[in-house]
Amino acid sequence: MSLLVLNSGSSSLKYHLFDGVPLSGVIDTRDSAGAVRELMERLPHGVELVGHRVVNGYHLFGDAVVLDDSHMTQLRDFARSSGITTHYELDNIAVARQALPRATHVAVFDSAFHRTLPREAFLYALPWDQYEAHGIRRWGFHGLSHESVSEAFAPRRVVSCHLGNGASICAIRDGMSVDTSMGFTTLEGLAMGSRAGDVDAGVVFDLLIRQGLAPTVVAEMLTKRSGLLGLSGVSADFREVARAAAEGHERARIAIAVYCYRVRKYIGAYAAALGGIDVLVFTGGIGEHSGEVRRGATAELGFLGITVDAARNAAAEGRCRISPDGAKAEVWVAPANEERIISREARRVALATPGTS
Ligand code: ADP
Repeated sequence: MSLLVLNSGSSSLKYHLFDGVPLSGVIDTRDSAGAVRELMERLPHGVELVGHRVVNGYHLFGDAVVLDDSHMTQLRDFARSSGITTHYELDNIAVARQALPRATHVAVFDSAFHRTLPREAFLYALPWDQYEAHGIRRWGFHGLSHESVSEAFAPRRVVSCHLGNGASICAIRDGMSVDTSMGFTTLEGLAMGSRAGDVDAGVVFDLLIRQGLAPTVVAEMLTKRSGLLGLSGVSADFREVARAAAEGHERARIAIAVYCYRVRKYIGAYAAALGGIDVLVFTGGIGEHSGEVRRGATAELGFLGITVDAARNAAAEGRCRISPDGAKAEVWVAPANEERIISREARRVALATPGTS
């Protein structure tokens, strides 16, 4: 069965065609629906199955799902109700369904991996009603990435750091997510390219009430003008911030220090959540390529058995271990393979759903 995987990220569209001759690529895009349209025109011939990465909504269906119009409506309604998280991938799915009307389209959810979070990890300490009546809880994201880099290490205690434009960290026991740093939206947790990550909710009141900023301005500040960009004033792109820091830019240096410290703090917290740590994995553009961040994020974690071999860290490429031989905890760099999980899930669900081929 020829299968196309569409993975719409915040700044790129990744596609992978599993057919006789595999075809894959990444399109940098601001107009993702336009990019999908262009890709559809380039496909060699009829695709039978399309696996789509969908950020949130797993709980609506309890599994990956063969999409029909009513599912799309449910997903759009949920997206509208869930605040500041953008759901550009739903537009891409609509374009793909229109262009490939005979194909079976399966939604595979990024939040699915976090279905195993225990209640104490997914509940916020808000009035109970906020959870029960309004659905305010931690969902967690980047699940496909965390799952793909950690499954080789089950049943050990794994902490997975996905450091890309967005960034999150996940505690995994026996192959199951038990805590993760993104929450109700993709805004919580680590400092990111342009997202603030954790901030005291009281800061939001200050922005709204004392500074009198409009809610949309505050949302835009926290999602688009914070993180590495906000602190450094240079860029949301790590490479540019690192370049500026190397040239002596003080705030760029501070931004990177904050970034690394936040990762380190979460590694410690998740080692506590797991009762110890056996494997630490770095993935995502920054996790895979920045030895400086991996060094900063693991500094002083020797008490957890985490050390990084300087030469291995500097030379790391592709999937490799960067901890010294015999270290108590293994530290790995591993490219994520979200497409593998999406294709596996799409095939499984398509085969299990009557009326699809
Ligand atoms: P996305 O979350 O959109 O999929 P990526 O996982 O590709 O993004 O991560 C993008 C981030 O990775 C950017 O901040 C970019 O600067 C950083 N990055 C990419 N390549 C390198 C590199 N060689 N060294 C350091 N950072 C890198």
